[in-house]
Amino acid sequence: MNRKPIYVTQPQLPALEDFYPYLEQIWENKILTNGGPFHQQLEKALCEYLGVEHLALFSNGTLALVTALQALRVTGEVITTPYSFVATAHSLLWNGIKPVFVDVDPYTLNLDPQKIEAAITPQTTAIMPVHCYGRPCDVAAIQRIADNYNLKVIYDAAHAFGVRDASGSILRHGDLSVLSFHATKVFNTFEGGAIICPDAKTKQRIDHLKNFGFVDEVTVVAPGINGKMSEINAAFGMLQLRGVDEAIARRAEIDRAYRELLKDVPGIAPMGEGGEASANHSYFPILVGEDYPESRDALYARLKEAGVHGRRYFYPLISDFPMYRGLPSARRDNLPVAGDAAARVLCLPIYPQLALEDVERIAALIRAA
Ligand SMILES: *Cc1c(COP(=O)(O)O)cnc(C)c1O
Repeated sequence: MNRKPIYVTQPQLPALEDFYPYLEQIWENKILTNGGPFHQQLEKALCEYLGVEHLALFSNGTLALVTALQALRVTGEVITTPYSFVATAHSLLWNGIKPVFVDVDPYTLNLDPQKIEAAITPQTTAIMPVHCYGRPCDVAAIQRIADNYNLKVIYDAAHAFGVRDASGSILRHGDLSVLSFHATKVFNTFEGGAIICPDAKTKQRIDHLKNFGFVDEVTVVAPGINGKMSEINAAFGMLQLRGVDEAIARRAEIDRAYRELLKDVPGIAPMGEGGEASANHSYFPILVGEDYPESRDALYARLKEAGVHGRRYFYPLISDFPMYRGLPSARRDNLPVAGDAAARVLCLPIYPQLALEDVERIAALIRAA
C-alpha cells in the first residue's frame, strides 16, 4: 500500500479564497512594505492576542534575535543553551559575541539555572535561554541571577507562541523575547518573527534598527539591518490569527491521543507528562529509554521506512557544530544532560491536520518493536 509520507509538521494554511480580499487591499493601497497598514494591524492584533504591551514585527526570527542583542548593546560573552535550533547561537556570532554553553535541566531540557552562576565571568553581559518545545524556563530563578550579576535576559521564545504562566504571557519575562513565525511554527506568516519589549522607547529603537537605522528621511542613528516584515506576510498573519486557537486546540487533541496510546510502552516517555497546561503543543517529543528494545536512531529509521518522518530535535547539539565545538564550554563533559537528551529524543509528527488514525498508526509502529 502506498501512503503519503507524514512529516513532523505541515504548515497551517487557511483557504486560499479567504486570502484574496487581503491581496486586493494591498493592490489597492500600493503599500508593499515599510510599516504599512497590515504591518500596523498585525502588531496591534498580536499584542492583544498574546497579552503583551509592545511588539515589533520582523522578516524572520533570526534577524529579530540579532537585532534584540543590538537593541540592548549586548557584547562580550552570553550564556546560552546548546539544546536548541542553531539560530540561537548564530545570532550571537553575528554580533561578535562569544557563546558560553551551560547544561540543561533533565526534566524541561531548558537552561539549568543552578549551573548558570558557575559560567559567569567579568565578560558576561547577558543570558539567552530558550523555552524549548514551548515549555517555560524557570524564569524566576533566571531573573534572580540576572539581577544579582546585572545581566540582560533575552528569551528565544521561537517555540512559545501563546504560552502563558499563572499570571499571563510567558513573553513578558526578561528584557526582551523573540518569536519566530516560520512556516513550521504554531503561528506562521510563511517567514516572520517579532521582538516583544516592555516599553515604547525600546520598541522605537528596535524599529529604527530593523530599518537601516533610519529615524527620519535624513537621519541614520545606527548601522541597522533590513529586518522589516512585508505587507503580504503581515496580511497573511492577520488571516492566520483567526484560526490559531482552533489549530492549537487540534494540537492538544493529538497530544492527548499520543499520551493515551503510548502510556504503557516500556522505555517510551513522552516529555511533559503531567502536563504543563500552558504549553502550545508545538512539538511532541518522546525520550527513548534503555527499556525500549531499539535505540532512538533505530526507531527513527524504522519509522522513516514506514513513511513517518520524525525529527531528532535537537541533534546534533549546537555546541557540536564546527563553528562552536572549539569553545571550552562546548566540551561534552560540560553538557552531560544535553548530550544524553540529544541521543534519546525523537519529535513525533504533530500538526492540526494530522488525522487521529495516523496518530494511531504511528503509535502502533512504536509499540511494535
Ligand atoms: C525557528 C527557530 C529560530 C529561527 O527562526 P526563523 O524565523 O526560522 O529565523 C530560532 N530559534 C529557535 C529555537 C527556533 O526554533
